[in-house]
Amino acid sequence: MRCTTLSTLLMAAAAIAAAQPSEPARPPVIDVHVHTFGGIPGVGPMCPFNPQFLAADPSIKADQIGWAKQDCTDLLEPSKTPEEYMKAVLAEYERLNVTAVVMGDQKSVQKWKDAAPGRIIPGTSFDTGIGGGKYLPVEELRTAFTKGGFKVMGEVGLQYQGLSPSDPSVDAYFALAEELDIPVGIHMGTGGSGRANITMPKFRGSMGNPLLLEDLLARHPKLRVWIMHAGYPMIDQLLTLLQANAYLYVDVAGLIWSYPLKEVHNYIQRIVEAGFEDRVMFGTDQLVWPKLMAASISVIEGATYLSPQQKRDILYNNAARFLRLDKVDKK
Ligand SMILES: [Zn+2]
Repeated sequence: MRCTTLSTLLMAAAAIAAAQPSEPARPPVIDVHVHTFGGIPGVGPMCPFNPQFLAADPSIKADQIGWAKQDCTDLLEPSKTPEEYMKAVLAEYERLNVTAVVMGDQKSVQKWKDAAPGRIIPGTSFDTGIGGGKYLPVEELRTAFTKGGFKVMGEVGLQYQGLSPSDPSVDAYFALAEELDIPVGIHMGTGGSGRANITMPKFRGSMGNPLLLEDLLARHPKLRVWIMHAGYPMIDQLLTLLQANAYLYVDVAGLIWSYPLKEVHNYIQRIVEAGFEDRVMFGTDQLVWPKLMAASISVIEGATYLSPQQKRDILYNNAARFLRLDKVDKK
């Protein structure tokens, strides 16, 4: 009798457990700005929101990147190899319910896509994203988009070559993106901060001015462009361009963790309060630190000036609309 009661109770408990998942599903997030790097020489542990673009002296060897390890409670450890990085980042995507635009050379992006087909939107560019200066033939890129399954052109890193996105020498690539209706992510603004004279001699801050996109957009009126790093810190130029061009979006990648938190919030708040809340997309600029995703999501979730709806829009809805996610082939 007692045994029967116990088994009945156990069965009832099992039924309740089955009906109630142990953890509620997290709302989905789209990260529109992820790189396949992992294990970059010279890039070590990093304290987010705490840049160290300190003064240097030409007679002393300076830190190359400017994200030197400092004392903080949320120190992010880098992965040591691209494989370790991919595994750790994909585990975070499962935990945090993230879909990501992952960019890099076609081979490395394909590895990510194969490892997590449902979570990766593959992106590749005609340059390396940090301005290697060697560009793929246009037809090779066409094949990547028409036959290789690539959905996004990015990261276009012309600023690292000191080149304007409207430069005629690269126009054929943007003409291709317009023809194939492929969204394009262009690096503008922050990046190589304080390092132009140390590691990236061709980088020009002035080539990150969002208004340099005007001629390009005029030549290709149907091109779907997003300004990576939101053109930080050129807010006035950014707002001018957003107002003039209705198809433009921005991402807050890189910016969201590599400056003091107050500065990050001030910049995002200014864009949102100027009326462009539905054009801001979440991004990390994930390079080597797997835990960067959680730290970056917490910035948006903790923003006191954003309504719950605006947070969802930035973390998911705006990117889903821009990328036309309902039409993206997830196979
Ligand atoms: Zn960039």
